[in-house]
Amino acid sequence: MQENDILIIGAGVVGLAIAARIMKDNRSVYIVERHDAFGRETSSRNSEVMHAGIYYKTGSLKAKLCIEGNKKLYEICAKNRIPHKRIEKLIIATNVEEEADLEELFECGKNNGADDLRIISGQEAKKMEPNIKARSALYSPSTGIIDSHSFMKYLEQSFKSKGGEVAYNCDVVGLRKINAGYEVRVRDSSGEAFTFNSHLVVNSAGLEADAIAKLVGIDIQKHNYSLKYCKGQYFRVNNSRKSALIGKLIYPVPHEKITSLGVHATKDLTGGLRLGPDANYISRENINYDVDLSQRKVFLESASRFLPFLKEEDLVPDTAGIRPKLQGSGDNFRDFVIKEESGIGFPGLVNLIGIESPGLTSAPAIARYVESILR
Ligand SMILES: Cc1cc2nc3c(=O)[nH]c(=O)nc-3n(C[C@H](O)[C@H](O)[C@H](O)COP(=O)(O)OP(=O)(O)OC[C@H]3O[C@@H](n4cnc5c(N)ncnc54)[C@H](O)[C@@H]3O)c2cc1C
Repeated sequence: MQENDILIIGAGVVGLAIAARIMKDNRSVYIVERHDAFGRETSSRNSEVMHAGIYYKTGSLKAKLCIEGNKKLYEICAKNRIPHKRIEKLIIATNVEEEADLEELFECGKNNGADDLRIISGQEAKKMEPNIKARSALYSPSTGIIDSHSFMKYLEQSFKSKGGEVAYNCDVVGLRKINAGYEVRVRDSSGEAFTFNSHLVVNSAGLEADAIAKLVGIDIQKHNYSLKYCKGQYFRVNNSRKSALIGKLIYPVPHEKITSLGVHATKDLTGGLRLGPDANYISRENINYDVDLSQRKVFLESASRFLPFLKEEDLVPDTAGIRPKLQGSGDNFRDFVIKEESGIGFPGLVNLIGIESPGLTSAPAIARYVESILR
């Protein structure tokens, strides 16, 4: 049996960021991950955008950790040569109603601390991006893109270089409170089961974070920890001349009670252009990452409101990701849950539940926050 100070469940970007941050000399920290490498789930199935903190309810963890994470990410990337680009973003209003929404977004972003935002005229937007259609726009100079794989690789190396260990192919199948902490039961890929004892446990299991909380005996219905899965699909613009027609990230104004930020246009670090993600709730039994070709027309209709040069044949299915959401369809805003659970009888257990977007951007700030609540 392995004895540890801290055991982290999940080697996504959040688990890795926490691990790299809390790993210190004379401390044994272990990550257990069910796949054979890091970032095999949501952390490698997203838009790779470093968000600026515009959309989220003021005062929420999403808002605070996104603003802090955005600044930290740029610093980490610059210092460690992680590929990234301050590509900037425009949120486009195409009619009068959307202009009112843009004002609200601007106020919300400003209150959150995104202090470089500016509302610009359609003319100024056209100067920045001659090939878009816009009545006016919200301009965000701090939004960027990052190579998330390189970032996770850096985090894993940083953790391991300080003596941290990662156990891949280890699925957590049991979690039990014991006198000196927790007993964590895992099964490896050959089906063999073994046990880790750990004083502290960090549950950073992404899509399974509620299931892990349930394993230890937390009533996830009562505490509102049940996750709903919301799939987001992407189409790629398969035409390099058209992909080069825009340089920034171009977003529509999101709808009320946002489930997603709306089908937007995302550039990648190679200059490629993707549209997405859309947002569809799926059942937990129905996890798959297929992209439904029949949605191509819907994507085109959404995007061609502000990217008039696209044609249906330019779009080819790309990837998909699944958001671990606390809010169901039509529900009000739910914040990240990041909690040390002494209050409900589980001291030394930190749950991270509902870490959807902006989880990638927030990862360095989430790590700092978890370190502060573990003290
Ligand atoms: C479509 C989409 C677009 C997004 N776009 C952005 C964006 O542009 N910018 C942004 O900031 N955020 C974005 N996000 C959100 C971001 O991707 C996530 O918030 C982030 O990746 C969450 O990281 P994580 O480590 O919490 O979860 P994950 O990456 O899901 O990692 C959890 C890990 O836990 C492991 N695990 C689960 N159960 C067990 C178990 N029983 N035993 C062992 N291991 C287990 C999993 O295998 C997985 O590797 C997007 C998300 C989606 C779905």
